[in-house]
Amino acid sequence: MINQRYKSMLAAKSVIRELSEYATARGREIGYENVFDFSLGNPSVEAPAEYNQAVIHRYQTMSSMDLHGYSPSLGNTQVRGIVADSLRRRFGIPYETRHIFMTSGAAGAIAHAVRAVTSPGDTVLTFAPFFPEYVPYVEGAGARLEIVPARRENFQADTDAFLQMLTPDVQAVLINTPNNPSGALWSEETLEQIAEIMRQKEEEYGHDIFLISDEPYREIIFDGKKTPYPAAFYSNTLTCYSFSKSLSVPGERIGYVAVHPKATEADDLALIFGQISRGIGHNCPASTAQYGIADCIDQTSDLSVYETNMNLLYDALIDLGFTVTRPGGSFYIFPKCLEEDAIAFCNKAKKYDLILVPSDHFGLPGYFRMAYCLDTDKVRRSLPVLRRFVETEYPGRFL
Ligand code: PLP
Repeated sequence: MINQRYKSMLAAKSVIRELSEYATARGREIGYENVFDFSLGNPSVEAPAEYNQAVIHRYQTMSSMDLHGYSPSLGNTQVRGIVADSLRRRFGIPYETRHIFMTSGAAGAIAHAVRAVTSPGDTVLTFAPFFPEYVPYVEGAGARLEIVPARRENFQADTDAFLQMLTPDVQAVLINTPNNPSGALWSEETLEQIAEIMRQKEEEYGHDIFLISDEPYREIIFDGKKTPYPAAFYSNTLTCYSFSKSLSVPGERIGYVAVHPKATEADDLALIFGQISRGIGHNCPASTAQYGIADCIDQTSDLSVYETNMNLLYDALIDLGFTVTRPGGSFYIFPKCLEEDAIAFCNKAKKYDLILVPSDHFGLPGYFRMAYCLDTDKVRRSLPVLRRFVETEYPGRFL
């Protein structure tokens, strides 16, 4: 019999994907250059030439058996070692090969992390606004996702609400900084407070509470800041990383989970992930992608365009009277709508061929997300359109 749970998910398809499909269809009608599609978080800068060269070099120099043969189920051992070295150098935490597990992007990493540290029926906490795919990642593991309400003034964590919601049935806390959709970069102070509350509750309840830190935007940081590394604040951390955004290779499906060396059962967790893979049919990622990232481990694409775009949009939005927190990283901005109903607001924007994502699925109604991974020229051209939309649909704003 067809599984009704998955069947019922068909009715709740991704709003973001639907909007992106709409934008593509509209582009066919009026020309893609005339559609200002801020829907999808698909990187807009090229992968570094070094990535392609590294993969080509592997094809040219490795034997077919070595390049295309089965890779060990936890990932290529040498590649895991290169990832561990890089993390050790950058963040001063003594990761070894045994703490690294290669995955299909951050999605694969989170799917393994949640399964490893929860059992069906347990609760996972995350913070609004959040990436909507957390719902299937967590529910697919049989756990329940509960949402800590947003701290709207700056999208740092509401630590008072977190303290109240961290009840004994919570086995894991899923965080994402820099954040999709708000662009917020959590401060050291926020991370320290979260860690302190979790340590306190671990002691009070007498069980581990794991921090699952989802970090696909770690490298996209503005104003010359450094990203505080969440695992540095809390030992029971599983760091879920993806090269999708930093190297602009989302189609390669490559990432990892890094187990903090001082986490409970740190030496066994990657082995446990390997057993989870057997059950969910995820095998380790393609060996070419593993070699590609290993050869470019500390490189990124030229990510500067995202900061340029952010500044253009932020200034324009402020100028138009929007309430908006200035992003510290990622390639998203999350202003408050000019009316309560975000869906109605975004539908009105569509009339101007501005494709904005209403925030309801991000766990915080009344806002909209703009993914500004676009050419800067297009972002510039969108600004007068944004102004025309606001002036026409919300004339009262300018009285
Ligand atoms: N987590 C967040 C916050 C994301 O924005 C994304 C993708 O956009 C993912 C996880 C999934 O990343 P990947 O495509 O590398 O699996």
